[in-house]
Amino acid sequence: MLVYFIGTGGSEGIPAHLCTCSSCNEARKFGFAQRRPSTLAVITENRKAVLFDVGTDIRDFLNVPLEAIFLTHWHHDHIYGLYKLRWMALETELYAPEGHADALILNEPKNLRPKILKPGDTLKADTLRITAIGLNHDVETLGYLIEEDGKSVALLYDTKGLPEKTWDFLKKKAPLRLAIVDATYPPGFDNPKHNNVDEAAEIGFQLAERTVLSHISHKNLPFLELVEYVRKRWGNKVLVAYDGMVFYV
Ligand SMILES: [Zn+2]
Ligand SMILES: [Zn+2]
Ligand SMILES: [Zn+2]
Repeated sequence: MLVYFIGTGGSEGIPAHLCTCSSCNEARKFGFAQRRPSTLAVITENRKAVLFDVGTDIRDFLNVPLEAIFLTHWHHDHIYGLYKLRWMALETELYAPEGHADALILNEPKNLRPKILKPGDTLKADTLRITAIGLNHDVETLGYLIEEDGKSVALLYDTKGLPEKTWDFLKKKAPLRLAIVDATYPPGFDNPKHNNVDEAAEIGFQLAERTVLSHISHKNLPFLELVEYVRKRWGNKVLVAYDGMVFYV
């Protein structure tokens, strides 16, 4: 499978509108430092696409039929693109945890077919086997273990640490090929809903051969500083995501 990082930012994206912090200013100089809200696609061995979260309009990046759409949770930065996507011409399954940010998507889904998932639920999408796992956030939130042909990827955002059950489940599957982890905040910053960079890297380090830090806020270190920090501590075991990154698993 191939993991395609369409959006790797937090809710505000980088640059945040009119913000003059060093992350936002850097992103106006270097296009690679710009981030859209969280949106990720997995391209299967058969070249089919499965979408995880829709924080942005995907049409310019993924104009193909979707095998399914999975939501991690109903915060706006993960569902924004659904308002456009629900008008697409093909009926498409939308798997999501309990809750809603705006009942419109559930009451008037157009061509989306919403279905609620709980931690432990497993289903198939083309050649992928996808298991929902619990995360620690302020609303019901699911991570996903994505398996294909003996290889596995864990998608772990939005979260602060991991619930014990999720640790136990993932440790049995370790080493994963790849862990994609919420790294919203800079080193040393403590927040009850999101990891900082150190917390995120340590989660991935224990579970996976490679870790990609994602869901990065403008409050985090500017791109170049962040890459340098991560490289010094974890070498090439931990990488910083950027919009447009592709990772072959
Ligand atoms: Zn988020
Ligand atoms: Zn900023
Ligand atoms: Zn959230």
